Amino acid sequence: MELDGKVSLITGGSRGIGRACCIALAEAGSDVAVNYQNSKEAAEQVANELMAMGVKAKAFQADVSQEEDTSIMIEQIMNEFGRVDIVVNNAGITRDRSFMKMTSDQWHSVLLVNLDGPFNITSALLPQMCERKWGRLINITSIVAQMGNFGQSNYAVAKGGLIAFTKTLAREVAAKGVTCNAVAPGFIETDMTAAVSTEALDMVRKMTPMGRLGKPYEVARAVRFLAAPQASFVTGQVININGGLYM
Ligand code: NAD
Repeated sequence: MELDGKVSLITGGSRGIGRACCIALAEAGSDVAVNYQNSKEAAEQVANELMAMGVKAKAFQADVSQEEDTSIMIEQIMNEFGRVDIVVNNAGITRDRSFMKMTSDQWHSVLLVNLDGPFNITSALLPQMCERKWGRLINITSIVAQMGNFGQSNYAVAKGGLIAFTKTLAREVAAKGVTCNAVAPGFIETDMTAAVSTEALDMVRKMTPMGRLGKPYEVARAVRFLAAPQASFVTGQVININGGLYM
């Protein structure tokens, strides 16, 4: 398999898009560290599923928005797997409110998880990828970074920042064998969109040329492609998986 012998870390891997990424990378032969914040049981279940597929897998707890928490987790992953070759910064939250009503806490909590999280994880792992002259950084951004969205100024800023982060790191480490790319999903059927009203989702379906929401595995396929040796000349890109909603 194309990722035999590689080790992947997926943040927020216990459900939704993160879980689908864990499965897709394991299908490609990668060993997987499954990060979770609170859902120990779900994360361990994902790890068991992956082991049944024949790869090594283990669940690791950390709130990625906390630097100390993250560095403890990275140390545990190093002890267990020895290294990380592929990082998927997937963990993310929303705290939606129109900007005029948004509190400072709603603003900062979204930036903290969606932007400081990738900073904490990436700064801990990028140096060793560069040293080994091989690595894949994949950031899960959002269509909202490209289009804006009512009630999501905090989320749009964080996800837009993640695109800027991706392109900048791509330039900084391109000569060191490490690629940095982003995947921008449109509206995907997960717990995150389950919180959106039925009317709003119906409107999204109407606006989407393909007339439906996406499935987590449809995002994970792009992640698998970006992680694979086949994507060796792809860096600094944003791959849109959105049924044509944003072109
Ligand atoms: P989800 O809510 O099902 O999953 C998010 C995961 O992140 C959960 O497992 C959660 O526990 C974890 N998480 C949250 N805060 C964390 C923290 N501080 N530390 C560690 N883990 C944490 O949502 P999803 O739809 O699967 O979202 C996955 C990613 O895709 C997110 O970054 C989201 O912004 C992005 N995204 C989702 C959609 C969509 O339509 N679902 C669209 C565009 C982008």
